[in-house]
Amino acid sequence: MSLIIDLLFPKTCFGCGQVGQYFCPKCQQFIKYHSPKFSSHPPKEGRLSLFYFHGLIRRAIQSLKYEFTSDIIEEMSTIFTQKLQKTYPHLVKYWQQNNFILTPIPLHFYRQNWRGFNQSVLFGQSVSRKLNLTFSDQIIFRSKDTHSQAKIKSHQKRLENIHQAFTPILPIPQNLIIFDDVATSFSTLNSALNSLKVYGLNRCWYLTLAG
Ligand SMILES: [Zn+2]
Repeated sequence: MSLIIDLLFPKTCFGCGQVGQYFCPKCQQFIKYHSPKFSSHPPKEGRLSLFYFHGLIRRAIQSLKYEFTSDIIEEMSTIFTQKLQKTYPHLVKYWQQNNFILTPIPLHFYRQNWRGFNQSVLFGQSVSRKLNLTFSDQIIFRSKDTHSQAKIKSHQKRLENIHQAFTPILPIPQNLIIFDDVATSFSTLNSALNSLKVYGLNRCWYLTLAG
């Protein structure tokens, strides 16, 4: 079946268009990476948006908004986790040893029903499986349907839009990695963290594919 699908809809590289895979080895060399930023505001310990949100990474993530292909998620999460394990092995080990649970930023159910899936959940599942971390999408509930943050230009308006959008599902774990596909201003992740802070969250990391 997969062979027939490959023949009908061949995978083409998001960088150069070559047939075979979504991220060809040559274009993978041009992916740019951020390093972790540590935080001095506990419980937040740091954040990492590994990929720069541009070029083939941007095209791949945006393509998932219009066509769902689990192969894109699989290829991209492999590049993401291999780079993370190779460059920051101590950070990954720290998360594993301290039982950090990876939880995705949820979509409001209106939006999820309309799109049919939440790519942060699918990426989050794949990333946590590859990093040997526990995954749970039963920690943060989206209680408010917000407008797309990317479409709001004013910083103040973005904060108002996302304010109190999340409600935790109790009890929450001690150590948490809040995961999203793309973060530019981090206001969504900050709002999710704020909803959890008062319930005894001990340590928190923000992890996003791109930023
Ligand atoms: Zn290529």
